[in-house]
Amino acid sequence: MTTVDTANSVTCPNCGSEIKTYGTPAPVHHCRACRTHTWSDREEWAKWRRTAFTDHVDEATRAVRVSNAASDYATADEADEALREMRALRLAWHRKARELTDAAGDLAPRSRDTVRVRTERWLAMSDAEQKVVMDIGRARDMYRGADRLVKALSAGELCWVEDYRREGWEAAPTATAILERWSDAIDAARKAAEDEFIRKVKATPIDDAAWEGECKRRRRLDAYFD
Ligand SMILES: [Zn+2]
Repeated sequence: MTTVDTANSVTCPNCGSEIKTYGTPAPVHHCRACRTHTWSDREEWAKWRRTAFTDHVDEATRAVRVSNAASDYATADEADEALREMRALRLAWHRKARELTDAAGDLAPRSRDTVRVRTERWLAMSDAEQKVVMDIGRARDMYRGADRLVKALSAGELCWVEDYRREGWEAAPTATAILERWSDAIDAARKAAEDEFIRKVKATPIDDAAWEGECKRRRRLDAYFD
């Protein structure tokens, strides 16, 4: 994979200005000074053809999908245990959120409030009061994270729960292990797709026929833009 590294440059054949190329092979160089372009020579073109750029690799690996069926990463017993753990965690966070909400009294966020009202109330609070409200928000957030996984597991599936929503998950080792296996499978599939993509790019033809095709393409583009 090519990363943009040290800056180097080519000289514009038209006006003699320096065009920075940042060490990355490119099919064409644009001169800002005289607003013309210069096609790369065959050697640089060949390098460019056989370079897997990060953006393209990302695109190729983003499309990778692995199964999210719980049964592919856990035995039936493990899936049941994970569901039990997550239900307990969901209940614990639900209780915690309710407890904090009750204790907060008038400070507690009200669902009927518009964003504007909520913002005004927030700005009128002291630091200590804001902390009370933040703790309620956090507990509700943790509840939602656990709730998503409970719903997915109930349907025999896995779903991603962001790391920050995994507070208290020491009490859910089975669910954690299953999500980690799933995550490892995703990483492995992406790595395989990345390797395959890079292998394909490296095998891109740079023979005379391909070069002739590139020259034709350039003539077409030049005719179009001139
Ligand atoms: Zn120039």
